[in-house]
Amino acid sequence: MRQTDPVLMGPGPCNAYPEVMEAFARPVMGHLDPSFLALMDEVGDRLRQVFRTANPLTFAVSGTGSAGMEAALVNFVGEGDTVVIGVNGVFGGRMCDVAARCGAEVVRVEAPWGTPIDPQQLLDAHPSPSMIAVVHAETSTGVRNDLAELGAAKGDALLLADCVTSLGGIDLRVDEWGVDIAYSGTQKCLGVPPGLAPLTVSERALGRLRDVPQSWYLDLNMIARYVMGEGARAYHHTAPISMVYALHAGLGVLLDEGLDASFARHSACGGALQDGLEARGFELFAQEGSRLPQLTSVWVPDDRLPAGATEADVRRTLLEEYGIEIGGGLGDLAGKGWRIGCMGHTARRRNVALLLAALDDVLVG
Ligand code: PLP
Repeated sequence: MRQTDPVLMGPGPCNAYPEVMEAFARPVMGHLDPSFLALMDEVGDRLRQVFRTANPLTFAVSGTGSAGMEAALVNFVGEGDTVVIGVNGVFGGRMCDVAARCGAEVVRVEAPWGTPIDPQQLLDAHPSPSMIAVVHAETSTGVRNDLAELGAAKGDALLLADCVTSLGGIDLRVDEWGVDIAYSGTQKCLGVPPGLAPLTVSERALGRLRDVPQSWYLDLNMIARYVMGEGARAYHHTAPISMVYALHAGLGVLLDEGLDASFARHSACGGALQDGLEARGFELFAQEGSRLPQLTSVWVPDDRLPAGATEADVRRTLLEEYGIEIGGGLGDLAGKGWRIGCMGHTARRRNVALLLAALDDVLVG
């Protein structure tokens, strides 16, 4: 049995910035240490810049992106509410599941996987929804869904956006676009390992915060009261200290680079990757005009697979021999396509060149 840690074995692309990994090595402060509380406040300030919002209630939920999703739904909808949700991939479907468990009536607005949701269809789906929810960057398909048009015409509804894969990688303007609640995850374009879910909530949404949400852990009331100056900061749960250091460092790297520069880097790398794949006979899955640079979904051409090999065999070779990890396809793409992340620290031209060169080695024809 292998005794060495595979992560230490090779130079394979790592999604976390080096500064982030260094942050994990810092001594662990107490979670109520004033220096740690000041660091959490700084994380909030940095998140406001990255979300492009002035929302006072902006912080990192302890838990992965799905915890952000649950916090965004369980605090604002329940029995008697109608939630219109766009579904064009796995994560829109997950939002429907969570909203239904909160007791809300869910109106699903579907679009074929690989295509964006038509904002007008979402707006027309119900006369008076409590909330309209959409995934900004669908990681299962590589499609970007529009938010600005929804925010401009949402009426009385709250607009909820899943920004797990968009934050830091493509343009996102929470305040300008009228997004009321947005959550993300640390492990995508922020270049930080998984473990926290950045969340921002508008003051308009705060006015609709449920008194007793069905979750104790994700109940936003205590932090909302503190943030709005209506209560003292008090113990709620023990924060994952090292993850907060890591997020603080990752946001620092992103802000030093500049948001627009980060978007440009993701766009250049994603564009080069997509061009390189098309030149090698791969067909892009996501509709042109709505393609994410940070997540590329492709059909793998059968005639380029080595004799007797499946697409999964090729992915295994790429991982074991070149240190490159590629995601398998989901839905129609399962067993026939790939999802290739090029985000955060991995969004570098050298990684694109490495992958394309490795494909030239491994594929036939
Ligand atoms: N939403 C989107 C768009 C995602 O891509 C993911 C995870 O990949 C999630 C939600 C769930 O996040 P997590 O796996 O961190 O819980």
